[in-house]
Amino acid sequence: MMQTPLLVGSMMEHAEKFFSKKEVISQTHDTLHRLTYKEVGHRTRRLMSALARLGIEKGDKVGTLAWNHHRHLEIYFAAPGMGAVLHTINIRLSPEHIIYIINHAEDEILFIDEDILPLIEKIHPHLTTVKAYVIMSDKSTLPDTTLQPLYNYEQLLTDGDPAYPFRHDLDENDPAGMCYTSATTGKPKGVVYSHRGIVLHSLALGLADGGAISESDTAMPVVPQFHVNAWGLPFACTWFGSTQVMPGPRFTPQRLAAFIERFRVTITAGVPTIWLGLLQELEKGNYDTSSLRSVLCGGSAAPLGLIRAFEKKYNIPFYHAYGATETTPLVTISRLKSYQQDLSEDEKLQERSRQGILVPGLEMKVIGSDGEVEWNDEEMGELLVRGPWIADAYYRDERSELAFIDGWFHTGDVVTVDKEGTMKIVDRTKDLIKSGGEWISSVDLENALMAHEAVFEASVVAIPDPEWQERPIACVVLKEGYEGQVTKDDFIQFLEPQFAKYWLPDDVLFLDAIPKTSVGKFLKRQLREQVKAHYQIKSE
Ligand code: AMP
Repeated sequence: MMQTPLLVGSMMEHAEKFFSKKEVISQTHDTLHRLTYKEVGHRTRRLMSALARLGIEKGDKVGTLAWNHHRHLEIYFAAPGMGAVLHTINIRLSPEHIIYIINHAEDEILFIDEDILPLIEKIHPHLTTVKAYVIMSDKSTLPDTTLQPLYNYEQLLTDGDPAYPFRHDLDENDPAGMCYTSATTGKPKGVVYSHRGIVLHSLALGLADGGAISESDTAMPVVPQFHVNAWGLPFACTWFGSTQVMPGPRFTPQRLAAFIERFRVTITAGVPTIWLGLLQELEKGNYDTSSLRSVLCGGSAAPLGLIRAFEKKYNIPFYHAYGATETTPLVTISRLKSYQQDLSEDEKLQERSRQGILVPGLEMKVIGSDGEVEWNDEEMGELLVRGPWIADAYYRDERSELAFIDGWFHTGDVVTVDKEGTMKIVDRTKDLIKSGGEWISSVDLENALMAHEAVFEASVVAIPDPEWQERPIACVVLKEGYEGQVTKDDFIQFLEPQFAKYWLPDDVLFLDAIPKTSVGKFLKRQLREQVKAHYQIKSE
């Protein structure tokens, strides 16, 4: 067979050629833009020429601090398209982590949204490698700022060359992108994506039993473009010619619901927190969501109650998927097999709330204390994966040797697998609760609690216990109007029929909010500290 390289730039060329009339709809701070792929392609080429003129060379890192919009999409293709590396930076991380990430990646240039400017102004004296800043704005004038030299994105494009070529002389194994994990402990770890990895991952997003994205879709990636490249949607959707709706800066559930209705969105993707918020909005307003044929949910466990609400109340198909920054990210997706369609409605929901089966192209195994565990839905072990879109190391980081061993990525996720090969995340290795020598899954308890009508969010953590080693404590955020209406005992009674007695939490704490990571996951480390402080338990 021919050895033609799989290159990110070629995906945009394909869109320009075959889907030139299809649209990218993009909300920025001031304006709703509608551009065709022909226009986006020309703008991407102009941007490549601007990058080259600013001295960006093959292998240089191009950092972005931006929301989901068309300019960010253009950099997704311009940086790798001219041989540089797209480095999307999580704007919700602490300033210390952002400084660390930019210096560690050695970003040469930063593309910044106007509302992120104050943050960068504060940290820029600590940035050791950045040679230029570009502001992405609808305004033609440059803001008054200490950042130097500062360029206006649209001016760079105006001066650029709309026929500038995508490079074809790259190796498909060259770096195309990078992302840092949103670390909950220690420094963030960098992952480098190759052109080949991104292209093959995009194919998985297009498989009917994978992401099932196609030309006929109108896709709205809600997951930020700085969180594992919006799970790869912008790459795949461009390649396939899907209409894209980019929800822009500081979007609200109200904007998401309104965009779904107005643009007839068919597929969207995000973490459970986003969908909990949207659900509340759907309950308040009267929106037409009938166009939606797929909500992809991942990043943390989707509670069964959430899936049920979307599917039964709003008739919106809801798909649970699993992955990580190190895996580009798609690893598993939960879809029923043809012969599982005969299961009862409840069994189907149970099955679909699991994280699902491995997408073709990857391999997995599950390792317990005595080697590979049986796929009997009982034995637990750590999930290991490998394949062409799985990283083989962290970027210049000695912690690589802890996670990448003998050609497998050790995910740190404890799972069980049933006879069908359907995987279920039991917990993060460090969040499992060990009580009297038995394991308790905090995720299972959380999912059960979140199915209670009074609960908005619930998270379960362990506290040390002199007798049992560890005991679970449930932390609950009530829905509006339920304050003072439910007690600890109500929740324990609610859980009792579902779990063994030793699983039942020792206490239920009512909180105003559960602390979250920068990408909307429960921040258990902080919650544990909060809970320990509540009981006046000293941290080790
Ligand atoms: P990140 O690198 O920020 O995407 O985080 C990856 C981690 O998120 C995984 O290792 C899992 O612990 C967790 N995760 C991702 N998807 C799911 C899911 N569907 N259910 C439970 N946990 C998930």
